[in-house]
Amino acid sequence: MANGTPILPASTNPNDFVIATIGSHSALQILKGAKDEGFKTLAICKKSTERVYDSRGYGVADEILTVDKFEDWNEALEEELIKRNAIIIPHGSFIAYMGHDRVKAMKAMYYGTKEILEWESDRNKERVWMEKSGLLLPKIYDDPEKIEKPVIVKFHGAGGGFGYFVAKTPEQFWEVKNKKHPNNSDYAIQEYIVGVPLYAHYFQSPITGELEILSFDKRYESNADSIGRIKAEDQLAANIHTSYTIVGNIPIVVRESLLPKFLEMGESVVKVSKEITANGKGLFGPFCLECIVTRKLEIYCFEISARIVAGTNPFIEGSPYTALKYDKPMSTGRRIALDIQQAIGAGQLEDILG
Ligand code: ATP
Repeated sequence: MANGTPILPASTNPNDFVIATIGSHSALQILKGAKDEGFKTLAICKKSTERVYDSRGYGVADEILTVDKFEDWNEALEEELIKRNAIIIPHGSFIAYMGHDRVKAMKAMYYGTKEILEWESDRNKERVWMEKSGLLLPKIYDDPEKIEKPVIVKFHGAGGGFGYFVAKTPEQFWEVKNKKHPNNSDYAIQEYIVGVPLYAHYFQSPITGELEILSFDKRYESNADSIGRIKAEDQLAANIHTSYTIVGNIPIVVRESLLPKFLEMGESVVKVSKEITANGKGLFGPFCLECIVTRKLEIYCFEISARIVAGTNPFIEGSPYTALKYDKPMSTGRRIALDIQQAIGAGQLEDILG
């Protein structure tokens, strides 16, 4: 599909624009942040979810467009958005429901670089991006027979860590694989890094040219985060396998001496993103480096999320980091709106659209 080319309105007044997203994932903070920065807001909702976003719920959406399924996104809906000068903010569920081809073909204004989604979603390309950025990465096993220490097995498109498992020998791998995923051969085998998971939330503004760390979280995963409540011998007796189904997100403040390294990692990822994208715009707006920090304080990165992550949701009132920089509560959603507002004001709208 050809790239959608939005027709940009000439206005430099934020009131002439609407910030729109799909009602799910991190839409509450995106829309609240947009309202706080003086935009009108619109949520595209599935029937029965409107009440979360309209005046019966949290009141963050000035207008709701209802669809039966998000997959029903069509030209008529997009026309409605274009008519309103809507700028669409992508989030995890948005990308998952829409698929990359449809995102690429969208003609409505879209915040972010569409091209980077290909690099994020293709495991091999993502690995190249991370390697070029000089990040410390878990080893990848291309053959299960080579497993010689604990590995984590990830199924593609599993969503939220569902169905991942840990093995430490080829025999263990095949036992779980054949039992739980007999027909699925789309998986990656990664060295299991022993340490604490830490997700760093960044923001790169094309308007200020600055990279900011907005917050950190860790995930609350079932049953990985509860298995320690059972004695090891009982775990074995009950044959409990560790799983990583995400249930929620927990805010983290990192040891201050780790901040320079995290900043360096973020800068490097942004720099390389400009080299790998054809238009050179690279990665901008919110993004996340998903990491594990070992007891030696090595920071392994196992994934880049090139958009707002749900781990920023605990920070609607801002984080300890944004409190240092801003004199108003600055969520990631609001930071996006501020970027758009500044771009519109400076007549640089094109710089923030993909
Ligand atoms: P996403 O939704 O971000 O695309 P996901 O939820 O499907 O990804 P991951 O984020 O890749 O899955 O991993 C889920 C969990 O598995 C992580 O939070 C982490 O606890 C654990 N994990 C992932 N990779 C590793 C690794 N290499 N070593 C140790 N633990 C890992």
